[in-house]
Amino acid sequence: MSTAPVTLPDRLAEFQSAYDELKARGLRLDLTRGKPAADQLALSDALLTLPGAGSYTDAAGTDLRNYGGASGLPELRALFSDALRVPVPQLLALGNSSLTLMHDVLAFAMLHGVPGSERPWGREETVSFLCPVPGYDRHFAITEALGVRMIPVPLNDDGPDIAAVKAALELDPTIKGIWCVPVYSNPTGAVYSEEVARELVSLTAGDDFRIMWDNAYAVHHITDWRPEPIDVLRLAAEAGNPDRVFVFASTSKVTYAGAGVGFLGSSPDNIAWFSHWASFQSIGPDKLNQLRHVELLQSPEGVAAHMEKHRALIAPKFAAVQEVFGRRLAPFGVGSWTDPKGGYFVTLTVSPGVAKRAIALAAEAGIAITPAGSTHPYLDDPEDAVIRIAPTFPTIDDLNAGLEGFCTALLLAEAEKASA
Ligand code: PLP
Repeated sequence: MSTAPVTLPDRLAEFQSAYDELKARGLRLDLTRGKPAADQLALSDALLTLPGAGSYTDAAGTDLRNYGGASGLPELRALFSDALRVPVPQLLALGNSSLTLMHDVLAFAMLHGVPGSERPWGREETVSFLCPVPGYDRHFAITEALGVRMIPVPLNDDGPDIAAVKAALELDPTIKGIWCVPVYSNPTGAVYSEEVARELVSLTAGDDFRIMWDNAYAVHHITDWRPEPIDVLRLAAEAGNPDRVFVFASTSKVTYAGAGVGFLGSSPDNIAWFSHWASFQSIGPDKLNQLRHVELLQSPEGVAAHMEKHRALIAPKFAAVQEVFGRRLAPFGVGSWTDPKGGYFVTLTVSPGVAKRAIALAAEAGIAITPAGSTHPYLDDPEDAVIRIAPTFPTIDDLNAGLEGFCTALLLAEAEKASA
């Protein structure tokens, strides 16, 4: 005689009492932040004493303590040029944040238009952007803050869903751009294929359509696999759309998240355009910070070696996510989750309508998880199903405790839904 399988509703009482016990423990754990942990920051602590007394000139002998050098230190640009596939003359090294550069590019576009614009974007009745989802909340926050209407399109494992992108562009002439994180995307870990990149740069769109190619995690591997860097500027030029792409990156998660260097790469015309409008804002970036970065990292191989040290610290944390979810959730068929090969996040997809409830239950038990909806424009995940897990910042013990507790909360939320 066969016995009926034990279903989630059968477990409701068991999950409820496990949750009550969890709550009684009074934990205070935080899995919300995609930040490097202190041990990762310590890898770059030589920056605190670099460039050192008497060291303030670049290879050409320029005094870096002074104004000038608006494009940034050539040696540092050379150091990241290959990884980002941007020729040095088209790669600017600027302030401490790439988000600032993304904001400025879009703010300049709103105020002045970009090469190819008929008028400033801000004088259009409506400006819209395609937002692959799940995506990065701070991208969506920039477009929202500047009054750009956001249109979600699905993100597949190899990049944005091109059929959906094409359909949106055909319907809507107000679309001026798309957000992209081509390598280890935030938050799914998707890595774009060259084919998808080629499709994106070849799309039929206005002359001022722009791809915001945020290559934040280009060198942030946590396995032996190395995606072949995509030369998106060359692909765009070959497709006859040389000005279509802005490339962004930074050393925020290479060296110090608060005191790194941001990069902007693009076509010669776009770089001239950006440099012109940026010249009203600054007489040059912090070149001494750039010099100390050159002294710390030294070469592309030095960057790769430094990133291996990060990998040694964070790969066990990503492995812990897989282990705990596999052990706690898989037996009940609850959730599906990504297994990224780099970057900073894991995406967990739960049953529709369960994400907010699971996160609220976790919060009541003292475990903070990134709010449901953060992965979508306007913080609105219509399915209420996507949860972003950020494993790097807590200690491995806190991470394990947080993941276990979160699974307890999620199992209860799923059982509640299945019983309703
Ligand atoms: N871009 C992506 C995709 C990110 O995930 C993050 C940080 O989490 C950033 C940019 C932040 O970049 P920055 O520190 O250079 O402003």
